[in-house]
Amino acid sequence: MEKQGNIRIASENMMPIIKKWLYSDKDIFVREIVANAQDAITKHKKLADLGETAAEEHYRVTVTADAKAGTLTVEDNGIGMTEEEVEKYITQIAFSGAADFVDKYEKAGGDGIIGHFGLGFYSAYMVSENIEIFTKSYREDAKGVHWASDGNSTYTIGDCDKETRGTKIVMHIAKEEKEFLKADKLRSLLRKYCSFMPYEIYLDPTGKDDKPVNTTHPLYLKQPKDCTDEEYKTFYRETFSDFNEPLFWIHLNMEYPFRLKGILFFPKVKKQVELERGKVKLYCNQVFIADNIKEVIPEFLMLLNGVIDCPDIPLNVSRSFLQNDKQVQKIAKHITKKVADKLTELYKNDKARYESCWPDLATFVKFGCLKDEEFYKRVEDILIYKNLAGEYRPIASFYGEEVSEEDAKNGKEPEPVYYVSDENKQAQYIKMFKDAGLDAIYCDTYIDPHFLSFLEYKNPSRVRFLRIDADVAGALKEESAEDADLKAVFEKALDGKHVTVKTEKLKDAGVPAVINVSEFARRMSEMHAFYGMGESPADLTLVVNTASAAVQALKGADEEAQKKGAMHVYYLALMNYRPLKPEELSEFLSTSAMLLETYLKK
Ligand code: ADP
Repeated sequence: MEKQGNIRIASENMMPIIKKWLYSDKDIFVREIVANAQDAITKHKKLADLGETAAEEHYRVTVTADAKAGTLTVEDNGIGMTEEEVEKYITQIAFSGAADFVDKYEKAGGDGIIGHFGLGFYSAYMVSENIEIFTKSYREDAKGVHWASDGNSTYTIGDCDKETRGTKIVMHIAKEEKEFLKADKLRSLLRKYCSFMPYEIYLDPTGKDDKPVNTTHPLYLKQPKDCTDEEYKTFYRETFSDFNEPLFWIHLNMEYPFRLKGILFFPKVKKQVELERGKVKLYCNQVFIADNIKEVIPEFLMLLNGVIDCPDIPLNVSRSFLQNDKQVQKIAKHITKKVADKLTELYKNDKARYESCWPDLATFVKFGCLKDEEFYKRVEDILIYKNLAGEYRPIASFYGEEVSEEDAKNGKEPEPVYYVSDENKQAQYIKMFKDAGLDAIYCDTYIDPHFLSFLEYKNPSRVRFLRIDADVAGALKEESAEDADLKAVFEKALDGKHVTVKTEKLKDAGVPAVINVSEFARRMSEMHAFYGMGESPADLTLVVNTASAAVQALKGADEEAQKKGAMHVYYLALMNYRPLKPEELSEFLSTSAMLLETYLKK
């Protein structure tokens, strides 16, 4: 016989409130209902393990959509419920749980409750006009129970014929939510939320597909020593649908002082210029919570792909609470430490591999250093750069001697470390450096300009960086007095071009002149460009080489020839720095033709 009852809840119209808040997150009802079914099975299994009831051969959850009837059914062969239990757990707990949730949500100021846990069973009303429960408890002589409610204030409860133990939740899907009856939609939701749940889940078991949609023993739960490379790669491919092999991975497995399991994968970087966003999926006891929760996982780690299962994170709280939670901070710290440890271990044990992975890793590691002081300290010694000879070395090995405080006060700066940012544009300098036995490092990742400034800031008494064309390094020149005559010739020719002229005696007599680009002005300009403030004009110096015979020859020439010659020398140097503009190029070409003619006629 069916009885009617009133649901005692604080607020009678929770539904509009819940719908409003969770609108974008309606999908989660699938997780909540399937997770309840899994819990019911876990409870039954526990009792069976204790010998309190007969064991079940094949625990399973089935999800069936019936488009004609407009129903979505989730059925389990778990513990089931008696009539009293339905009254207690569903009518009272589930509904008051939802009321609680609304209350908490309101208190959190709509600040997003991480897991939405606590809404549970009631969340199915976001998509259903009516829900029926058919259930039968594991207890001997339990009878089938039928419960139904539209989610407002009344419900009915009574007996029913149910042969098998367990619970069947029948959701009568609202007209505007019919998409939840489509197999594709359901499959993708089950994959998203239920992929790693512990008991098999079957979608539409009457159909052809007889494979469970989930993996009941996901790899991350295993002991690292029991996992093969092949298994990691397969797990990666299936979880992230990325057919590129990961570079390597970190298996997190910890029980104390908090429980944490998971695997972080370093993906191959596809594009240098853009920081690829990865995906770190957070789970709680094999139930998917959300992707990329920045309160739990340090921001820079989100460039990686990974799964993290952490039952100890309080999930039914607001994001701002999580951010300040000590436990959560410890977890984030631990993950950061593990990543740094793994990188260090790889560097120490397999340098060749580390170096071959470095082009893919560099951006991530540098970004991590910029974002996280602790991480920087841990990886400081394994930040490597390639030198002109093509060898990787830790950055600190390029630094000069430490400048004492005393010397610093007197204006002494650390020795510069020269760097190449563009191998082609700086080819002339590279050659001069190599000829003079000087070294420089290659800095060509997108993040390097910021990163070098960061290293200077961290090591003010050890290093300053100069781009290879920022000045003429001491070892490239000999002591010489300024050649005022030559300087005057060039200044006259370059009048109005905003180029400073300087003379130096370079060791390489074959180079008539080089362009220096002021490091400071260039960095400012790059910063402006980075923040979209437009580039400011570069601060250029033409360094005229008094050792060059061509330059010396200018001295004896007439005024017209001096001007042409000086401009030609300027263009030769400028070409190494940037492409000539059309009018510069035509002038350069006509002078070249004339020079060739004179040379050949000689
Ligand atoms: P929570 O799961 O957070 O306790 P719910 O609203 O999801 O809250 O569910 C309330 C209670 O109803 C559960 O604690 C459980 O006792 C009972 N319940 C829900 N679904 C099932 C099920 N499929 N089988 C057995 N009991 C269930």
